[in-house]
Amino acid sequence: MGFVITIDGPAASGKSSVSRELARSLNIPWVSTGAFYRGLAYAAIRKDIALTDRERLSELAMSNDWKVEMTPEKTKVWFESEDVTDKIGQENVGNAASTISHYPEIRQSLLDHQRSCALGVKGLVAEGRDCGTVVFPQAEVKVYITASSEHRASRRAQELGTDQKEMAQLQQVRDKQDSTRKVAPLQVPEGALVLDTTEMTFSEVFDRVLEFVDGKLKN
Ligand code: C5P
Repeated sequence: MGFVITIDGPAASGKSSVSRELARSLNIPWVSTGAFYRGLAYAAIRKDIALTDRERLSELAMSNDWKVEMTPEKTKVWFESEDVTDKIGQENVGNAASTISHYPEIRQSLLDHQRSCALGVKGLVAEGRDCGTVVFPQAEVKVYITASSEHRASRRAQELGTDQKEMAQLQQVRDKQDSTRKVAPLQVPEGALVLDTTEMTFSEVFDRVLEFVDGKLKN
């Protein structure tokens, strides 16, 4: 298993952009663990499985009907041989993902797949909510990225071309669910670099993270 850098934080805090750039500069892969929850939620919606039907969701979690693939640009999701990566980015899929992410048995069945991303590689950048606390508690480097809710809503609304106010409301619901759930809630991992990026440019954020990573990997 290679070294692991985890990047956790709330919705639309810029985790994916930092992860992608960091992975590129270190020449290692990166994975969005949110893609597993989004992929499963999307597959459930397409198959008309209720988000409350835990038994069928568990079966679906372990089925070959959908899969996740790491690529340098994005963590891709396939549903029945169709590339649905662009479709899982919608906020309704994010909210559905957040709903099913409460079920411990679902989290457990996705965990092995998430961990296997670090096998057979020199290193891995893993981003999500519980990467530094549950998925890779032994990670060499842990980072926690956040930003004000207005900033995050405006970023995601711009990306998706939707209304900022509505986005802020949806994100608030999702953040609350993600940080108050019983199993693997969003929290700052011990020893993590905590960055509030509200007033920072992307290159300031990236330079700060890279400096922290370099310092940790040297030791
Ligand atoms: O990061 P992203 O917005 O794609 O994640 C979608 C949802 O998946 C989150 O709101 C959260 O409920 C769930 N998730 C999780 N644990 C992770 C990553 C994502 O519970 N490690």
